[in-house]
Amino acid sequence: MQRVVGAYVPPPLQANVFYLTIDDGPAGEATYMLLDILEKYHFQATFFWLWSRFVEKHKDYLRERLLQGGHQMGLHGYVHLSLWRGGNSVSTLIWAERLWQEAGIGPAAYYRPPYGHLPVGPWKKGLPYKLILWDLMPPDYRKGTSWAEGLLARLRPGDVVVLHERRENVAEWKRFFSGVAVRGWRAIALPPVVGAPHSAEAPPQVWGPSTEGGGTEVPR
Ligand SMILES: [Zn+2]
Repeated sequence: MQRVVGAYVPPPLQANVFYLTIDDGPAGEATYMLLDILEKYHFQATFFWLWSRFVEKHKDYLRERLLQGGHQMGLHGYVHLSLWRGGNSVSTLIWAERLWQEAGIGPAAYYRPPYGHLPVGPWKKGLPYKLILWDLMPPDYRKGTSWAEGLLARLRPGDVVVLHERRENVAEWKRFFSGVAVRGWRAIALPPVVGAPHSAEAPPQVWGPSTEGGGTEVPR
């Protein structure tokens, strides 16, 4: 994990299990294809979505698939704009979460800022979400990259993996998740944060041994 003051680190996992997080969606058909692949292997993920990419006609489908699959929605912002360039104030994030909830999706317990650009100063203190970064991010945001094998080789139990919702990644998703399954590994969503604001309806506890919310805060 990127050891950053104030960032949340989920509980360590002993077995061949990792935390799967997906950024930048929803992405229409690509989201559907990813959900199908995850369902095939009974894997779960936390989807860090942007409200600006929400499409009304998809809401029932997204809500049902999230629930059925045991997935979880996290916030990636209202728009995909770096905090360092004025994007996504705390109130904008809370507003975005409210819009998601009105669409029947959420609540959100986690927030990942675009580009991993962290909030500075008082912004961070008012954040009602757990701020989370990642351990492993393949170059899946670059066109034409083969990243599945490299990511499989680097996986360690308890890693937080981030992938990006892009249509161009479908073939590599298939390669990666089939490799995960063949090796006897499992992908799970982040733990529910019990008692945290905005997480009264935590998703079902589908992840193995470490079900404690809260985890370990990074030492200063
Ligand atoms: Zn992003």
